[in-house]
Amino acid sequence: MNTYATHSVCKTLIALFTALNMFTNYVSFFTGGNDRGSAGDINGTTIVITLFVSDVEYGWSVKNNEDIERIDNVNEYLSIAGDYLEEQVSNYGGEAEFITDFITHEDLAYYVRVDRNMENVEFERDYDANDEVMWSNIDEYIDVDYLKEKYQADNAVFLAVFNTDVNNPAITCTRNWYPGMESDNEIVFLYYIDYGMVNPPAVYAHEILHTFSAPDLYTTNPEFGITQGTIIGIQNKYPNDIMLTCSDLRTGDYVYDRITNEITEITASYIGLI
Ligand SMILES: [Zn+2]
Repeated sequence: MNTYATHSVCKTLIALFTALNMFTNYVSFFTGGNDRGSAGDINGTTIVITLFVSDVEYGWSVKNNEDIERIDNVNEYLSIAGDYLEEQVSNYGGEAEFITDFITHEDLAYYVRVDRNMENVEFERDYDANDEVMWSNIDEYIDVDYLKEKYQADNAVFLAVFNTDVNNPAITCTRNWYPGMESDNEIVFLYYIDYGMVNPPAVYAHEILHTFSAPDLYTTNPEFGITQGTIIGIQNKYPNDIMLTCSDLRTGDYVYDRITNEITEITASYIGLI
């Protein structure tokens, strides 16, 4: 659930993209950013483009039944997250639509192979290199503008999913946009299993909210004015905010068929709903 916003360094990496559907080699254009990055206002229509990334450690195979089941789960968790975000936004009088279903819409999912360990992120430069390898392939093979036009979408969010097991040392995180970032594409790095647990729909929604500028509420962040004192206040007043916790407040467990956390007024204010 980490977020990070550091500048990237260039690294030369080899990567290969294979689309689930027939690939047309579109040239991609990026329309430039705004203060909130490529995912701007949560009101409007957002497409989530899912990248199933195979790296040197973990891979996806559509011939493996367990992998197929996980891919179906990702689609289901994304659907729950999208419906949840639409409902929560409507509670504040907004109107958001999330298009996430890559089984119905085949051009919203891609298989990606990278010649790199995407879980070995002990250093800041590893995160930067992970971004680089994803950005370069998105730029080369996915026409984001075409997809936004096709789906009449205002925003596009990328979800890179890794087929990890309980030995995975990496933690799900999101590359937040910052002024001067070399690509507008904000990527959620979603490890299917991290901390020994399968990530539930709440984590998918939490990460997508990062791309709309919602900060984590469990850790200090001077950029967003979140101090140790603020965190204690948030824990008391908004204990079920989805940016504070993705576990069910009552049981302390993850739930997989719904999201029981809320966008409370603090997160609503960070993403511009109030
Ligand atoms: Zn987070």
